[in-house]
This record gives sequence, C-alpha cells and structure tokens, in this order.
Amino acid sequence: MKRATPAPETKPETEPALRYRVREGHVLQVDDATSARMARVRQKATKPELLVGKALRALGHHYRTHNRDLEGSPDFANRRARWALFVHGCFWHRHGCSATTTPGRNREFWEAKFARNRARDQRAAEALAARGFRVLVLWECETKRAPPEELQQRLRAAFAGS
Ligand SMILES: [Zn+2]
Repeated sequence: MKRATPAPETKPETEPALRYRVREGHVLQVDDATSARMARVRQKATKPELLVGKALRALGHHYRTHNRDLEGSPDFANRRARWALFVHGCFWHRHGCSATTTPGRNREFWEAKFARNRARDQRAAEALAARGFRVLVLWECETKRAPPEELQQRLRAAFAGS
C-alpha cells in the first residue's frame, strides 16, 4: 500500500520567545514581556526625581543632583547643610509595598541582586552618617501619586525628624 503523504506538521503552540543572556554570572532566560516590563520600571525611576526636586525647591532647599562623589551617589545632596536624599525605586530597593514584586523567572538571580542593592544602600547610609550627613530616603511610591503639597509635607517632616 502506498504510504499516505504525511500531514503537514502542526505548528507547536507558540510560547513567548525565550532568549538567554548572561548577566552577573547568572544565565538568564529572557522573554519579551519581561524585558518590556523591566524597561518600564527603569524609565519610571526618572520622573519621581523631578517631582522631588520641585518639592525641595518649593521648601527653599538648595541641592545638587547625582552626587557621584558621595557614597551611594545620593539623588539630592547639600554638602554645606550636610544632608543627602535618596529617591529609591520600590522594586530595585525592596520597599515592601505592592511594587516590590519578584520576577518568577531567574529567581535566584533577582534575589541575589536585591540583596546586593540593600547591602549597598545600607553601607552608603552608614558612610554618609559617619561623615555627619543626615540621610533621608523617599520611596518612589510616596512621590508618584501624591499631590505636590503632600510631598512637601513629607519632606518637611523628614528634614525636621532627622
Ligand atoms: Zn513603595
């Protein structure tokens, strides 16, 4: 009997395209959706800094941004008045709020990365405090949806309380 021509192969169910990347000694599986999400997280980190700068100016604080010569490169600092302010992204610096998710893929990589971030934050805060700086931290979620007056109030309290 003549063999029937094989049916055309059915396409396997389409899965998200996986790529592999090596970062910081880990082999990562990367799919497009995750990459897009990470890119969004990174971009968003710039806007809170604009809002905080505005609030600081409204309160009459003078500052420099991106202080690479100070431990941890505080987002805002005033050397003469000896304060340093970090605006931390909730995801990267593990605030503990609802934005503090952990990607399901490459979990070990992320957990190691987050642990390093936190340790670095801690070291920077201690080094600055040892130099007589007041160290203030604002979380991204505190800056995002808050009306300007609320952010100013939050900053006023931070400066008064430390
Ligand atoms: Zn948060």
